[in-house]
Amino acid sequence: MPEFPGKAEAVPVRPIVVYPSPILTTPCKSVEGVDDDLRQLVADMIETMHAAPGVGLAANQIGDDRRVIVVDLSAGEEEGQSLVLINPEILEVGGHENGEEGCLSFPGLVEFIERPLTIRYRAMDLEWKVVEAEAEGFLARVICHEVDHVNGIVFHDRMSPLKRKFALKKIERLRRQGEWPDWEESQQRA
Ligand SMILES: [Zn+2]
Repeated sequence: MPEFPGKAEAVPVRPIVVYPSPILTTPCKSVEGVDDDLRQLVADMIETMHAAPGVGLAANQIGDDRRVIVVDLSAGEEEGQSLVLINPEILEVGGHENGEEGCLSFPGLVEFIERPLTIRYRAMDLEWKVVEAEAEGFLARVICHEVDHVNGIVFHDRMSPLKRKFALKKIERLRRQGEWPDWEESQQRA
């Protein structure tokens, strides 16, 4: 499940922006090159993803509108597993698979989402070299989830209309009960 909803007591280094912040539903901007500022963003993203803990994070989830995602299927359990993808795009998809997903911007929500079984993707790395690779199964799912984020697509956009309706109703109920984080506050902190 991408971005396993974090342990309640975990404090990420950068606050995570929650739905329905508009930054989550607005496409991010392409990165023009790597500089210290971008390297700092990536370092913050990796630290935040590991602290959450999660297996993926997109820059707009910490309030930054650049097209950057990080993925680490070990959620920080193993050293050097973080994949940094700048301006990522999905080139090809094959097959499909239903699987459980969570999202750090939707705390506590876990839903079955259909995703491609295999993908071919392209991105720039931190050395500003083109990376083109294939992924399958869970890795493909996490990359698709994070690429969706930088395209302004959130995970309930991938649900069937009926499931989306239930998910949004549940969020509304949690917001009414004060059990959903205040998105404006989450954005100010980010
Ligand atoms: Zn997410």
